[in-house]
Amino acid sequence: MKKHNFYAGPSILPQFTIENTSKAVLELNGAGLSIMEISHRSKEFQAIMDEATGLFVELLNIPDGYSVLFLGGGASTQFAMIPFNLFKKKAAYLNTGSWSKKAIKEGKIFGEVDVVASSEDKNFSYIPKNYTIPQDADYFHITTNNTIYGTEIRKDIDSPVPLVADMSSDIFSRRVDVSKYAIIYGGAQKNLAPAGVTFVIIKNDILGKVDRTIPTMLNYQTHIDKGSMFNTPPCLPVYAALQTLKWLRNMGGIPEMEKIDEKKAGMLYEEIERNSLFRCTVADKEDRSIMNVCFVMEEGREDLEKGFLEYATSKGMVGIKGHRSVGGFRASLYNALPVESVEALIGVMQEYEKKNA
Ligand SMILES: *Cc1c(COP(=O)(O)O)cnc(C)c1O
Repeated sequence: MKKHNFYAGPSILPQFTIENTSKAVLELNGAGLSIMEISHRSKEFQAIMDEATGLFVELLNIPDGYSVLFLGGGASTQFAMIPFNLFKKKAAYLNTGSWSKKAIKEGKIFGEVDVVASSEDKNFSYIPKNYTIPQDADYFHITTNNTIYGTEIRKDIDSPVPLVADMSSDIFSRRVDVSKYAIIYGGAQKNLAPAGVTFVIIKNDILGKVDRTIPTMLNYQTHIDKGSMFNTPPCLPVYAALQTLKWLRNMGGIPEMEKIDEKKAGMLYEEIERNSLFRCTVADKEDRSIMNVCFVMEEGREDLEKGFLEYATSKGMVGIKGHRSVGGFRASLYNALPVESVEALIGVMQEYEKKNA
C-alpha cells in the first residue's frame, strides 16, 4: 500500500531528489565514483556546492552582500553560533515554542536576554502580537514556523535591530524578503534534504563587531572565507539539497510552491473545521502554519483519539501523531507532499466521522 508521509522531520522529499541522489550514490555523473567517496576538494564536488549556493540565491532572490553556507551541526548549533558571533550586551527573542526556548537558553549563556513576548501561557497556540523590539538589542531572534505547535509567522516583520530567523520548517514555502533579515538558518531535514546539513543565509556586514575570541568552527567568517569548505561539508546531504532546489525551480520556484502549499493547508484546515470529530489547536487563522497542521479531537470525543490514529494508520497515513507536548495529531505538509496525500487524509477523516456519527 502507498504510504502518505506526514512526518515532521526528517520528512518527505521529492521523488526527483531520492532518485537522483540514489543514482549519485552508485555513480556521480560520469565521475566513475560515488558521491560518498569523492573528495570535497574535487572539481565535481565544487561544482555541486556552487550550484546549490547559486540556486539558493536565485530561488530566494538573495541580494548582494549576503553569503549562503552549508554547515554541519543542525539548527541547534546555530542557537549558540548566533550569540557567539553577534551578542555584545543584550539580545531580544520572541518565545513561540520549544525551539525558541532552546535558542533563548543558548543566548542567556552570553548575557542579558530580553524575551519580548511569549505564547507559553496558552501552550504556544498563537503568535504574540503587540510587542516592542528594544532598539538597544544586538539582534532580535524569531522562529518563523513552530513545527511542534503548528503556528507560523508568515509575514516578514520589520525590526529596528538585525533580525535573525530560524526557518527550519518553512524555508521555501513562501516568498521571503531576505533583505529584512541579518540571518536566516535552518536544519535542512524538513523541506530540503536528508538530515546532516544546515543552511545559513547571512548578511556579511553584521560580523566582526564582537570582541570575544570565537572558536574557529563557530565563527561564521571562517565558513564565509572558505565557501563552506573550511572542513569537510556534509557532501551527500548537500547533493540531495541541490536536487530538491532543482526540483523546486522546475516546479516554478517559490511563488508556485507557495500557492500549492496554501492550497494543501487550506483544504485540510477546512476539513478540520467542518468535521464534527476534530478541532484545530490554533484558533487564530492568521497564525496557522501552512507546513504543520495541528489538530485534536473535538471536546467530548477525546475517547476516539486512539481509534482514529489506528484507523488512519491502517489506511496508509504515516507520522500524524501529534508531538507529545500538544497531543492529538499533526500533519506536516512539506513541499514534496502531493495534494493526493492531503486528499487521502481528508478522506480518512470523513470516513471516520461517518463510522462514529
Ligand atoms: C527541527 C527544528 C530544529 C532543530 O533542528 P536540528 O537540525 O535537529 O538541530 C530547530 N528549529 C526548528 C523550527 C525545527 O523545526
